[in-house]
Amino acid sequence: MDRKQAWTLYQEKDYAAIEELCSGYRRFLNVGKTERECVEEAVRIAEQKGYRNLSEYQTVKPGDKIYEVHMNKTVIFFHIGEQSLEEGMNIIGAHVDSPRLDIKQVPFYEDSSQVYLDTHYYGGVKTYQWLSLPLSLHGVIVKKNGTKITVRIGEAEEDPVFVITDLLPHLGKEKLEEKVKEFIDAEKMDLLIGNRGEITGTVKDYILQILYKRYQIREEDFVSAELEVVPAGKARDCGLDSSMILGYGQDDRSCAYTALEALLEMEDVTALRTCCCILADKEEIGSRGATGMTSRFFENVLAEIVYRIEEKREACIECLEKQSQNFSLYQKQDLMLRRILQKSDMLSADVSAAYDPLYEKYFEKKNAAYLSEGVVFCKYSGSGGKSGGNDANAEYMAELRRVMEENHVLYQTAELGAVDRGGGGTIAYILAEYGMNVIDCGIAVLSMHAPWEVISKADLYEMKKGYRAFYQKYGK
Ligand code: MN
Ligand code: MN
Repeated sequence: MDRKQAWTLYQEKDYAAIEELCSGYRRFLNVGKTERECVEEAVRIAEQKGYRNLSEYQTVKPGDKIYEVHMNKTVIFFHIGEQSLEEGMNIIGAHVDSPRLDIKQVPFYEDSSQVYLDTHYYGGVKTYQWLSLPLSLHGVIVKKNGTKITVRIGEAEEDPVFVITDLLPHLGKEKLEEKVKEFIDAEKMDLLIGNRGEITGTVKDYILQILYKRYQIREEDFVSAELEVVPAGKARDCGLDSSMILGYGQDDRSCAYTALEALLEMEDVTALRTCCCILADKEEIGSRGATGMTSRFFENVLAEIVYRIEEKREACIECLEKQSQNFSLYQKQDLMLRRILQKSDMLSADVSAAYDPLYEKYFEKKNAAYLSEGVVFCKYSGSGGKSGGNDANAEYMAELRRVMEENHVLYQTAELGAVDRGGGGTIAYILAEYGMNVIDCGIAVLSMHAPWEVISKADLYEMKKGYRAFYQKYGK
């Protein structure tokens, strides 16, 4: 396959559009450093474009723009199309959780007049990457009476930050002999949060006093808290040519943001097919839990929409009427739900590993994704003999090649690394369980899962164009 560098294809108007997209994107990364923050921001942006909560809709008709949030951590957006829902939807699903360190339920301890918060890492984290970095604390603390305190410390200029300390090289000779995976014990990934003693009490007492003064919380309230430790600071342009973006959580917020932007862009366009954008939680730990993709949330929301379809408008209900005179309304709606799901097409919008010449042997060059060479289609994921992966149909891949080419979207295909070098999965296999077409399609990332990840601005631009083209494609 011919490889092309996206930058060589651009004109002035593209450069301007790229910078506009990237400034919105950097903002999204800065505001949304946790799944909760991303969901809140996504809803805020969507509401500006006319999206309304499902509860505001008694009935659903073409042109309606609907969203539904679950437990503040996952959200689904629908742009209802002209075509009968029974013909399926164009679905793009990304995730908004990212690797990080979570604060334990009983986190406080003091040692040598230093106070620490004990952490438990979330997702695929290389522990040594998180040492001696400025870190911030984001999340919520919910008190017994239900009061929710939002915490965000370490992002504003005047805020203090936190750190996990490292051993000085002078004493590190023996330490350097250890294997990297043992180099830092994940149990010792503890956040330094204070060192000031008072005549009246310990360092920990003083920290607890601050917490009470500022948030009216006590030590035991951490039992009902969700606090996430993430790299402090903003996403930045990267490279002398400012061609890239360095930022935290670009897996998978680069795909989440472009999937949402592409949908919101269709403000005045009546989508032919119903378009759906899912921003899921828990992907990095296996998609389990009520807010992960394996939960029934997506199916439940779709059932709510089917229930609200104005019957007369929908040819499908009439045709169901003929086929199934004896079906109850409930049975008809259930059958319709299954038809919608099976006829839908999906892009599992997740990032891919960009080829890194510094780590050449872990990739197979012909089947690697390259920075700035466009959106990445990953026909199959998994590890070993594609184990646990989703393998998209050739027919579907062919259709997507056509859609991308007709819309002048630069794309490439890739596998996650060379055979037997590792592997991974996304939410693709979960939606595939409904019998729909699913393929992984996302952005190439350097240093994936590191505190600071790198993407190309050109890829972000192609991705938004690609997702837009997908939303607007016809059903079969
Ligand atoms: Mn991901
Ligand atoms: Mn990931």
